[in-house]
Amino acid sequence: STVHAAEIERTFIAIKPDGVQRGLISEIISRFERKGYKLVAIKILTPTKEFAMLHYDDLKERPFFNGLCDFLSSGPVVAMVWEGQGVVKYGRKLIGATSPHNSEPGTIRGDLAISVGRNIIHGSDGPETAKNEINLWFKPEELVDYGLDSEKWLY
Ligand code: ADP
Ligand code: MG
Repeated sequence: STVHAAEIERTFIAIKPDGVQRGLISEIISRFERKGYKLVAIKILTPTKEFAMLHYDDLKERPFFNGLCDFLSSGPVVAMVWEGQGVVKYGRKLIGATSPHNSEPGTIRGDLAISVGRNIIHGSDGPETAKNEINLWFKPEELVDYGLDSEKWLY
């Protein structure tokens, strides 16, 4: 069956510098791709510290904020927008709990990371955050609108 356009969500996903250095780009992309989500924007860049501080603005009162922003700006990050039904919430499920000590096996952090400060991936935590993060990291014209034949077999 077809799905209404209004049900299609987008989320912001980033592979952090540790994920890039560890050679986990394709592993992470394939988990979202195989689930059935659609990649609508992707780029690799090293964010400035100021940009990292904007991205993590909601955490600025936390004791780890400065170290976190140093880390995010320490090397290349793969920034992406993924699209699909329920992708914001289910993307978080694919990623797993913030601390890899608590993330279940089968999740990205559960399978691939050990430490909360090196948890390899970021994903928006809700629909509003997703919109804000997509707007922060991408220009509207960097998002590609295209159809996938597979969509008709998914919904
Ligand atoms: P998430 O990435 O799961 O949305 P948060 O938004 O709470 O988690 O935190 C953002 C990032 O800050 C986490 O992914 C992690 O890298 C880092 N972080 C969170 N809590 C801690 C902590 N207690 N110590 C060090 N780093 C932390
Ligand atoms: Mg978060």
